[in-house]
Amino acid sequence: ATPSALMVGTGRGAQLGIVIRGPQVLERARRVQTIAFDKTGTITTGQMSVARVDTAESVGRDELLELAAAVESGSEHPIAQAIVASVDQNRPVEDFRNTPGRGVEGRVDGRLVYAGSPAYIAALGHPAVEWPDAPIGSIVEVADESRVLGRIVVADTIKPSAARAIAQLKDLGLHPVLLSGDNERTARAVAAEVGIDEVRAGVTPEGKVDVIKELQADGRQVAMVGDGVNDAAAIAQADLGIAMGTGTDAAIAAGDITLMRHDLVAAVDAVRLSRATLRTIK
Ligand code: ADP
Ligand code: MG
Repeated sequence: ATPSALMVGTGRGAQLGIVIRGPQVLERARRVQTIAFDKTGTITTGQMSVARVDTAESVGRDELLELAAAVESGSEHPIAQAIVASVDQNRPVEDFRNTPGRGVEGRVDGRLVYAGSPAYIAALGHPAVEWPDAPIGSIVEVADESRVLGRIVVADTIKPSAARAIAQLKDLGLHPVLLSGDNERTARAVAAEVGIDEVRAGVTPEGKVDVIKELQADGRQVAMVGDGVNDAAAIAQADLGIAMGTGTDAAIAAGDITLMRHDLVAAVDAVRLSRATLRTIK
């Protein structure tokens, strides 16, 4: 590959809203066989809203949402933004701690409050609470030092371009995989809607790295598309790391390519561009 052709390709990428970090990235993009996608903020818009609230005995709905919003105020996760937007009252939080892909904790009015995935809350060892069937969505349980206080289900919207982008990637011969920290049921529902057959759900940020390594078996070339802090390590592990421009700084820093367009067809354009660029110089 001549350096000048690669530079032309890189320039063409910029016009398409695809920021390519260095000419050698196009050569790697051309060889990609498997492409893993994060769900929240990548396949979905990440503009989430509270879809359902269930509270434990003697806990009020407003009280639950206010406690959750207080601890979520320190997080930039789309789930956090939805919960914060659902309340009028903003209470301060102290000793805030964020565990990416799991949840948050902090002190609200002196009381320790946790909000996170069912696994994160179960690890506290409080007595389990039975909830009614949840609608499709990300599940956030809320607890204090001694008990589970409630459950919030946060719903997301699939990007209008997602199904089209997946279909086009399949036409190019790529195998798509959905890689999500979210629960199995929700991940499967989203995957089915956009045409992805292989789903890895309930994976922690470290688990995402392991899945990428597994997909890389036998020298297969793997791309990872993501936006969150929880995706950064998997993006770095992939042969081709792709970050959504709307994503966190950590994801963008870990990537070889940043997609400045919201629509996922930009990912297809990146693969097409790499093939076109390298075809002209072979
Ligand atoms: P995804 O891989 O779909 O982007 P994440 O890895 O960010 O999902 O999150 C996985 C799960 O962890 C969420 O579905 C949620 O249950 C929980 N979680 C992550 N971050 C938060 C947060 N800030 N507040 C509450 N729950 C969270
Ligand atoms: Mg995400």
